[in-house]
Amino acid sequence: MLKVTNIGKAYGKFTALEDINLEVADGEFLAIMGPSGSGKSTLINILGLLDQSYSGEYLLKGKNYKEVNDNRLSQIRGDQLGFVFQNFKLLTTYSVYENIEIPLVYSKKEQHNKQTLVEDVINKVGLAGKERNRPSELSGGQQQRVAIARAIVNRPNLIIADEPTGALDSKTSKEIMDIFTKLNQAGTTVIMVTHDSEVAKYAMRTVYIRDGRLYSDAESVKNHD
Ligand code: ADP
Ligand code: ADP
Repeated sequence: MLKVTNIGKAYGKFTALEDINLEVADGEFLAIMGPSGSGKSTLINILGLLDQSYSGEYLLKGKNYKEVNDNRLSQIRGDQLGFVFQNFKLLTTYSVYENIEIPLVYSKKEQHNKQTLVEDVINKVGLAGKERNRPSELSGGQQQRVAIARAIVNRPNLIIADEPTGALDSKTSKEIMDIFTKLNQAGTTVIMVTHDSEVAKYAMRTVYIRDGRLYSDAESVKNHD
């Protein structure tokens, strides 16, 4: 799915990422853990084609997008990637249905096909009956279900989730992780940042970031203290 070779990233004189190497296979479910400020968001912004100013090489499906312009990049993000955030990032004046439909608005698919796609993901995330509700009428867990539905409605190859359970209690977190697990079992690659080791257990593999450096589970961070 993707390959990162010797990636580095600096904000001015501050080194946020250093010598990052990472390969993620098609169909993998990877957790990225690390303390606050360690570089997790910086890394997934690069993986999600949201940040193009880094050193080293990043290949997504074998392609290097470093020189690609912003319009084309947002197209590629829309077609291939789905994003889920800690704070859902839903549009508050839109209904559940309209929020989920957003990624399809500019797609050339016929309207009835769009409707089928939206209804399909609403069922997948267990939100049938909530289509007309506004996000504020839903629980946190339900709002995250809307965000997941929006992320998968275009059937992306890769879902990038940044602390998807960070705002949820542990029971709701489990429900959300069950959804990610099902998506992964259906073939979608998942990369998830989390602080929560219970949540990381749903992943096939965990890597750790500390001070901008990446460690595999085999070489525990502690060995590098
Ligand atoms: P995490 O997601 O692990 O909390 P981040 O990737 O957000 O960490 O940040 C890594 C480091 O880079 C932090 O020390 C943060 O203060 C710094 N940083 C992040 N974004 C910027 C920025 N735009 N300008 C300067 N420093 C930044
Ligand atoms: P959960 O157990 O998932 O945290 P809640 O206890 O928050 O759910 O909500 C239970 C039910 O109440 C849900 O079906 C949700 O749609 C509804 N609900 C929650 N908050 C609101 C609200 N502010 N306005 C209307 N309905 C709400």
